[in-house]
This record gives sequence, structure tokens and C-alpha cells, in this order.
Amino acid sequence: MRRKLRNRARPQARFEAFLCLQLPYTDFMRIAIYPGSFDPLTNGHLDVIQRATKLFDRIIVAVAKNESKNPLFDMEERRELVRQAIRHLPSVEADSFDCLLVEYVEKRGAQTIIRGLRAVSDFEFEFQLALMNRKLDEGIETIFMMPKDTYTFLSSRIVKEIALLGGNVSSFVPGHVRTALARKLKPAPA
Ligand code: ADP
Repeated sequence: MRRKLRNRARPQARFEAFLCLQLPYTDFMRIAIYPGSFDPLTNGHLDVIQRATKLFDRIIVAVAKNESKNPLFDMEERRELVRQAIRHLPSVEADSFDCLLVEYVEKRGAQTIIRGLRAVSDFEFEFQLALMNRKLDEGIETIFMMPKDTYTFLSSRIVKEIALLGGNVSSFVPGHVRTALARKLKPAPA
């Protein structure tokens, strides 16, 4: 009753209520895409994902095919490693894509691209990428997130190098990624 009175006093509220009835639920969802190579996913990526869950209703971690980067894991393997890492996060999904990022964002009904910033060295490339994506689609915003300070030195490339040389990567990646790295880098029997 009180709500009814309030709505009568606020025509805007009645209009909003009308929209609620007309639009599908997804039109109100803040959906973000977190794209990257994830070759493989590290605790730094996971930290960014966890922080983003506080800002968005749905996050799609989108593994880019990126064959030109000569990935250690193929696209399906990388997506599966992401999927296992986010199992405890109900609002996060793992997917992959092999097209222009802005096309993929549009296709998934998202409005935002998330990228991680570790240090000033990331900035130039990320800035260029964000501006180019804005040129391609004005309706999509890029936001940058900083990981916990202990992950600012962490990259997939460094993790692969350490694992290749037999170093311990257990504090840099989830357990299943460590196992996958060990399996992938195991020397072939002579
Ligand atoms: P790409 O090849 O697209 O840079 P990456 O998998 O290396 O893909 O990274 C995906 C995104 O995550 C990028 O924005 C990158 O800067 C960010 N990122 C990578 N490692 C970390 C980390 N340790 N902390 C925060 N962000 C990170």
C-alpha cells in the first residue's frame, strides 16, 4: 500500500515498473567479458575474476584462440583449465572465441570488457587496445582492474618458463593448472 502511494507520487517509478514487466531479465544484467589468452590461467587472473564478481552480475571469461601467440595449451584445454578454476563462482562462466572481440561482446549481450593491469608496462598496450575497441564499438566500455599486490609480477609466460625449468609454481597457479603444466612439459620418453 505504502509502495503504491509512493509510486503514484513518482511517475518515474511507475514507468520503471512498467519496463520491468516488458524487458527480459537479461536486459538488467551487468555482463562483463574478461578476454585473454589464459595460457594458462594464473592466480593473478583468478584474483581479477574474483574482484569483478563484486561489480557484475555475470562474468564471461573468454579464452581467445590466439594461434599467432603459439600457445602451449590449445583453446579447449585453456577453456577447461579456466572452467575448473571458477567452479566455485556461480556468476562466472568459461567460454572461448575466435573472432573480433567487440563482435563477441555484442553477441554475448555484454556491455563491458575487463582487463587486468599489473604495472605501468601493461598500460601502453592496454590503452591502445581499449581505444581501438572503443573506435570499433562506442557502446562498449573497458575497465581495468588491479590484482592483489603479490600477483603484480605474475604472468602466464613467467609461470611457463619456471615450470619448463622444473621450478615450483604451486603458489602462482591453482593445483589443477600445476598438474596440467607438469603433464604438458613432461619430457618425452627417450
Ligand atoms: P593477453 O594475451 O590477452 O594479454 P593474458 O592471459 O596474458 O592475455 O591476460 C589477460 C588479461 O589479464 C590482460 O589484461 C592481462 O593484463 C591480465 N593479467 C594477466 N596476468 C595478470 C595478473 N597477474 N594480474 C592481473 N592481471 C593480469
